[in-house]
Amino acid sequence: MGSRRPLIGITGRKDTPARLSHITMCAVGETYIRAIHHVGGTPVVIPPTMALDSDWEALIAHLDGLLLSGGGDVDPALYGEKSEPWMGHVDVERDVTELGLTRAWLADGRPLLAICRGHQVLNVALGGTLYQDIGALIPDALDHAYVATQPMESIAHSVRLDSTSQLAMILSGTTCDVNSAHHQAIKAVGERLVVVGHAPDGVIEAVEIPDHRFCIGVQWHPEAMVKASPTMWPLFEAFVRAASA
Ligand code: MN
Repeated sequence: MGSRRPLIGITGRKDTPARLSHITMCAVGETYIRAIHHVGGTPVVIPPTMALDSDWEALIAHLDGLLLSGGGDVDPALYGEKSEPWMGHVDVERDVTELGLTRAWLADGRPLLAICRGHQVLNVALGGTLYQDIGALIPDALDHAYVATQPMESIAHSVRLDSTSQLAMILSGTTCDVNSAHHQAIKAVGERLVVVGHAPDGVIEAVEIPDHRFCIGVQWHPEAMVKASPTMWPLFEAFVRAASA
């Protein structure tokens, strides 16, 4: 046996395809899977139904990296707030799966990449809160749900990165252009997390745990950008390299 490709768990969502409306699928967008495979990882889908301590123990025993993927909104009850009318779709079973797995995973010091909803899940897992809707709650904010009407790779806004962050080092600069497909954002920042990236309107776009081997959250969708532009490959390369160590 040569050196093994690291096993990267990607959290899935429930979905009902139009042609199979009587079946609930547990699925992950193909762009996440192809991005991880392209940089040397072997992707596996984590169903959003792994809500037991024993599930998390089994996953931690086998996985080398954890990718929290995009999706719907986190149940506000899980960060101590009431659900407001502008909340989107919630799957509490997925929330419980991802929050429990994330806490157990980070306690073990393992590499984690969190994307869009995942970046919000990471924040809630560490005790943070979310704005339930940017448009309703943040005056003069940009349109962060931009790609709802555009291809996923479309650039929506820039992000300014903290020059001392791991993310700035990985992306070789302190600004980047990103897509944007979210209507929620980080409000109170979770314990141990440091905000390392903002949109021009002040919305938090990137976080990391500085003393962790690799724990980075981004509010944009790098997996949907890599086909059109190479700028986000280094993020996936650095993550899978950390998972190989
Ligand atoms: Mn955005």
